[in-house]
Amino acid sequence: MVDMNQLQALFGGTFDPVHYGHLKPVEALANQIGLARVIIMPNNVPPHRSQPEATSAQRKEMVELAIRDKPLFALDERELKRDTPSYTAETLQAWRQEQGPTRPLAFIIGQDSLLSFPQWHNYNTILDNCHLIVCRRPGYSLNMTEESHQQWLESHLTHDADSLHSLPAGKIYLAETPWFNISATLIRERLEKGEACDDLLPAAVLDYIIKQRLYC
Ligand code: ATP
Repeated sequence: MVDMNQLQALFGGTFDPVHYGHLKPVEALANQIGLARVIIMPNNVPPHRSQPEATSAQRKEMVELAIRDKPLFALDERELKRDTPSYTAETLQAWRQEQGPTRPLAFIIGQDSLLSFPQWHNYNTILDNCHLIVCRRPGYSLNMTEESHQQWLESHLTHDADSLHSLPAGKIYLAETPWFNISATLIRERLEKGEACDDLLPAAVLDYIIKQRLYC
């Protein structure tokens, strides 16, 4: 029998700041398919890329505030503590080694990240170590732009959530999570213009942003 309480997921991103578009689809996903734990892992942004406005410490604190009363979530600081670029493929390989070969593991991304996924460093090794679970995001296609990438997607695609629990890795699951038209960019822009953001992120995170005078 499939053990529905084993599947753990990592959820990476910049989280500048963390918002409901990150949290709510993942909470819905956990209810739909069963997830033991979702580990939020803010990344260290390499020097040649545009830097987050908040520091690593601030991004970490905002995630802590967002998840403090949500037992589903945990925080992993490994990429934040690194001073070299964060390559998801390497992080997931290390995580697999820690968890052993049989435990089901997943990496959660939004639809926009699925479209850019083939540009990620060593993307094709990621499914050796985990499943990929894709949350819906308004405005992005579910079809890859290149035919070879579409074939890659279809060769790993499953519509059966049980297979995420029964296999350790290798599947892509397009989850039917609710749409949230929220981005960190939108929040930063609204705060800069002095516009309200109460419906976009948890109150404790917004209070922190105001106290720290972030994004203004
Ligand atoms: P920015 O606007 O600064 O680019 P973002 O809002 O896209 O940031 P990230 O921290 O870059 O947030 O995203 C982390 C992960 O969360 C990515 O996989 C992304 O696809 C996903 N994600 C972010 N916002 C949403 C959303 N509204 N719905 C579904 N997935 C989302």
